[in-house]
Amino acid sequence: MLYTIKCPECRIEIPIESKYLINKEQITCPNCDYKLSNETLNNLKNIDKAISENSKNLDDFISIKIEGTIKGSSIAILK
Ligand SMILES: [Zn+2]
Repeated sequence: MLYTIKCPECRIEIPIESKYLINKEQITCPNCDYKLSNETLNNLKNIDKAISENSKNLDDFISIKIEGTIKGSSIAILK
């Protein structure tokens, strides 16, 4: 699954595959060096975990695209 994070500072889109997300300790915007807070990153990992665990029993041929904004997490600007 591919996540696209929009940088809150410069608005560019940062794509990240869920298989790489698991091992990420930090996500930094390649354009402006904005760093996602640890809390936000952990919340994102939890969301990813919940989606993959709950989709185990779905039929293989189903492809679902989720698009939208995840609200409710506080984003700290660390720069
Ligand atoms: Zn940025």
